[in-house]
Amino acid sequence: MYTPSEKDQLRRIEHHEADVVVVGAGILGCAVAVALGNQDRSVILLERSLKEPDRIVGELLQPGGVQALEKLGLRDCLEEIDAIKVFGYDVIYYGEEVAIPYPEDGRGGEASDEMRGTKRKRPEGRSFHHGRFIQRLRQKAMAHPNVTVIEATATEMVTSGYTGQVLGVEANVQGKPDSFFGHLTIIADGYASKFRKEYRTDTPVAKSKFWGLELIDAPLPMPNHGHVILGDGAPVLLYQIGTHETRALVDIPENTTSASVANGGVKGHIRNVVIPNLPRAVRPCFEAAIEKDRLRSMPNSFLPPKTNITPGLAILGDALNMRHPLTGGGMTVAFNDVVLLSDLLDPAVVPSLASTGLVLKQLKRLHWQRKSLSSVINILAQALYSLFAANDTQLKALQQGCFEYFKLGGNCVDGPVGLLAGIIRNPFVLIYHFFSVAVYAIWIYVASGGILAAPFRATIGSSMVFYKACAVLFPYIFSELRV
Ligand SMILES: Cc1cc2nc3c(=O)[nH]c(=O)nc-3n(C[C@H](O)[C@H](O)[C@H](O)COP(=O)(O)OP(=O)(O)OC[C@H]3O[C@@H](n4cnc5c(N)ncnc54)[C@H](O)[C@@H]3O)c2cc1C
Repeated sequence: MYTPSEKDQLRRIEHHEADVVVVGAGILGCAVAVALGNQDRSVILLERSLKEPDRIVGELLQPGGVQALEKLGLRDCLEEIDAIKVFGYDVIYYGEEVAIPYPEDGRGGEASDEMRGTKRKRPEGRSFHHGRFIQRLRQKAMAHPNVTVIEATATEMVTSGYTGQVLGVEANVQGKPDSFFGHLTIIADGYASKFRKEYRTDTPVAKSKFWGLELIDAPLPMPNHGHVILGDGAPVLLYQIGTHETRALVDIPENTTSASVANGGVKGHIRNVVIPNLPRAVRPCFEAAIEKDRLRSMPNSFLPPKTNITPGLAILGDALNMRHPLTGGGMTVAFNDVVLLSDLLDPAVVPSLASTGLVLKQLKRLHWQRKSLSSVINILAQALYSLFAANDTQLKALQQGCFEYFKLGGNCVDGPVGLLAGIIRNPFVLIYHFFSVAVYAIWIYVASGGILAAPFRATIGSSMVFYKACAVLFPYIFSELRV
């Protein structure tokens, strides 16, 4: 006699049938497979390559992501991978430094001031080699009695010709075509999603790329902190990902003249523009890495979220929603989405995933419930990138204002970094700090121009800075309001 769980396992292995088929065993796919498996759902997880990924993405998990991982019972995936504790950020603006530690966390029952963004007890993030973390997540999925992981490349959706309902996927398994069926198919195939375009007409927009290098034994100015370096070019990020390794991500906007072939390409840009802005102690490691390491790049895409409306289908993770990786928010959004989704699909609420109408209703709820965290992270990432990659007078004024705002300390640091960390989940806190930065930037812009420039700066100039702040923020707010 088979137990119910053994029967389900046989159905998965022999008949390729389950409650849920998940495409992509990356950050979101592994977490959702385990979370739904924990609810006694039978899950098939398809992944095109189970080898340890070697990528320059997903290497710093914000405290809000660590907290979500804990809720999913997956926090131990951060163990035994030589992960580094992260206590906050060090922002370096033309050589001047300001520390922005993660704020105290309000969890534990103490009062907190949500509107001003202050919290108690300091939480921690973690940085690591992406591939090692992914392998730990995959091991969890593989060890789960309700999850079957199969190395297979999904090639096509299987859809009912009558109802339009997604019934599963066709896939290539060891060179042979095969099919997998589930009441719910979750697409989590990442930034270059093959399937997304069948369900939405808009496409990701990438205005820059991150170029990645691995530095060895780099003496970072503030160990256990992410470093953001601002200077003449677009921002550079540095954070330790292992005892000896530090990830450097160099943002290069498209059509950057100093990165043109005539100017020596990306290496020329790094040598001539990036290295002179780096802390002196880090420069030799950077130069050594350019000589030795292969330069790899990834597009920094923006894609606002959209409600899932196709019966039998949920598109999640980067396939659904992306923001500039400057603030390292993608994994935090993904893990929090899994927490929310598993609550919404709890068997007490949705006894069978075959009830497609009810599942769709819950997915619509997910679209709005995820806003408190994902909107904050999406808008903050895009807005902060506009300021940090400033390429005109108004944005430069806002960039300087932002740095001076951080220097004020207290709530001027706790609020913004709490939002970035995924521990303050309130879009109004973001709007409050963004416009506080704008007003402070205008004050500095007017005060620093000298007596002759003051009449222009106090009137037309400051209006232009304020207009630019609105032009930066509002399109991203609107993109979050659509269905
Ligand atoms: C340069 C850069 C740096 C970043 N740094 C950070 C950071 O520090 N912190 C952070 O939180 N976020 C960061 N992100 C974002 C983060 O990497 C993503 O948000 C996160 O990986 C999304 O998870 P996912 O599961 O949607 O996609 P992925 O993790 O990319 O997983 C997708 C999976 O699907 C598989 N797959 C694809 N197609 C198929 C198919 N047809 N069949 C079967 N399997 C398939 C892939 O092999 C992969 O395993 C960064 C992004 C970029 C671009």
